[in-house]
Amino acid sequence: MKLYDYLIVGSGLFGATFAWRARQAGKRCLVIDKRPHTGGNVYCENIEGINVHKYGAHIFHTSNKEIWDFVNSLVPFNRYTNSPVAVAPDGRRYNLPFNMNTFYRMWGVATPDEARAKIEEQRAAFLADLRRQGVSEPRNLEEQAISLIGRDIYELLIKGYTEKQWGRPCSELPAFIIKRLPVRFVYDNNYFNDAYQGIPIGGYNVLIERLLDGVEVKTGTDFFAGRTHWESVAEKIVFTGKIDEYYDYRFGRLEYRTVRFETETLDTPNWQGNAVVNYTSREVPYTRIIEHKHFEMFGDDVYKTPKTVISREYSTEWRDGMEPFYPVNDARNTALYEQYRALAAQEPNVIFGGRLAEYKYYDMAPVIELALTQQL
Ligand code: FAD
Ligand code: UDP
Repeated sequence: MKLYDYLIVGSGLFGATFAWRARQAGKRCLVIDKRPHTGGNVYCENIEGINVHKYGAHIFHTSNKEIWDFVNSLVPFNRYTNSPVAVAPDGRRYNLPFNMNTFYRMWGVATPDEARAKIEEQRAAFLADLRRQGVSEPRNLEEQAISLIGRDIYELLIKGYTEKQWGRPCSELPAFIIKRLPVRFVYDNNYFNDAYQGIPIGGYNVLIERLLDGVEVKTGTDFFAGRTHWESVAEKIVFTGKIDEYYDYRFGRLEYRTVRFETETLDTPNWQGNAVVNYTSREVPYTRIIEHKHFEMFGDDVYKTPKTVISREYSTEWRDGMEPFYPVNDARNTALYEQYRALAAQEPNVIFGGRLAEYKYYDMAPVIELALTQQL
């Protein structure tokens, strides 16, 4: 008999949740992670009494009550509601997601009917154009965005931001990326349509600690640095790293986007008045600025700590040595991933799960759900 039932490669949300469940079921687990800490991309660092989202802003949101109850049973979540502000190329500020506040600011339209008429005018012209070319469904992000929300908003709030974030023209990006954003005809700046959202009180590290409570963990440990050894210690492996790396890049490399963070502590309690401010102009090199304290301090509470911490996010193409963040689900990468997936499907003793192993643009809640529903 081997020492462990499961070797779990990666202590991000997939690995940590799987470990929690396996432990509940009496399984012996070892979690290894190559980073010096657990938690993967949700890890926070405490600076000046503020939980700084070290790998980018993370807002938990879900409509799945079971998942919400599950995470809240481990750590209570606060009432944070994401409502980003976008600074357009002309310097004007607009509310996101696209809602009556945005439309009022953009066109001066005050009622839902006026806003719909304005968008319809722009959509109709564009859709007629597409039909003339024999196109019935939007083929890419640009076509999807204009046919959803019209050309003005596309040009001012979407095009520059998206091209900076993905490093590719909108006409070469998949349509689904933009479908994540709600469009609504009410005055409501809540970025998500989900029934539940918030941030764990005390930060994401508390959630991860509770998931990994009682589980053996080795950080600073790369699976590939001792592969033969690690493959021998457990009956099964749960792999949450890059699937192309697992197969030694035999079909070629999958592409990822990553983000470089420039984090600064400022000697003022409240710098931008909001957690997330997006910069949609191509001329501004960063995509957004995060002011971390607003994730956990509301109203006048933001003045309880004298300083603040901000991060500018610069989106770049991933290269070795960087953290791979976003899978690039374009045609080439999707086809390549399918080749790796076919190999993975033939492995009886390895479970591939999470953003990197499934090469999928997952949010946190679905990752937790997936890990909780794996067959043990
Ligand atoms: P990860 O967190 O990446 O964990 C994988 C772990 O495996 C890492 O710790 C890594 O070090 C480890 N690992 C990899 N290879 C090896 C190896 N060879 N040996 C040992 N260890 C290894 N989701 C939301 O719901 N809301 C948000 O607001 C949100 N914002 C995001 C912002 C950014 C910038 C990013 C990148 C993601 C965001 N997400 C958000 C998504 C969220 O981060 C993921 O859904 C979730 O963290 C995925 O967990 P995971 O376990 O699959 O991956
Ligand atoms: N987006 C945009 N302008 C914005 C914010 C978002 O055009 O100001 C688009 C962009 O294409 C992005 C997508 O909406 O990739 C999804 O945004 P979201 O904030 O959900 O992305 P995340 O960073 O959370 O993955």
